[in-house]
Amino acid sequence: MDLKQKIKEIPDWPEKGVNFKDITPLLQDKEYFKFVVDKLCETEKPDIIVGIDARGFIFASAMAYKMNTGLALIRKKGKLPPKVISQKYDLEYASNIIEMKYDSIKKGDKILIVDDVLATGGTMKATCDLIEKLQGNIIGISFLIELDFLKGREKLNYPINSLIHYES
Ligand code: AMP
Repeated sequence: MDLKQKIKEIPDWPEKGVNFKDITPLLQDKEYFKFVVDKLCETEKPDIIVGIDARGFIFASAMAYKMNTGLALIRKKGKLPPKVISQKYDLEYASNIIEMKYDSIKKGDKILIVDDVLATGGTMKATCDLIEKLQGNIIGISFLIELDFLKGREKLNYPINSLIHYES
């Protein structure tokens, strides 16, 4: 299956210099959506799948259903009710805060983290930091898309599985 054919590239959106990867054509095609979820599930079974706000939720929840695991959410600051733990991380010109329920992971739980796109890796690195604080055992990280030229994987010290690669 030519997965890239179902990803629409939107130059200079939402801001100049960003080549946005629109995954909605892939989601709208039942065969492609099923194919990528099945592919993402071809990995060791975790106890909990962690999905990242917001498009990571789409894949993480389908995978949790298929793999029969729990699902935990990483959300932007202020979206989850207490108690949460937080992690700040730096963007190019600003910073961001992500949060997770403090009890969403138990010490030693096997964790698989899922997001749609790996770009600079800042979001995923902050997610790993949160899970490490909760003493989860990260067994892998899965992405639909990896932007290889941004070298995000160099920030991440865990096995990474990406289905689609862009070299520029
Ligand atoms: P980063 O922290 O730089 O790795 O950015 C990853 C997050 O930003 C993911 O949650 C993506 O949904 C989103 N993202 C970053 N770059 C893109 C892009 N070119 N197209 C679509 N989403 C992106």
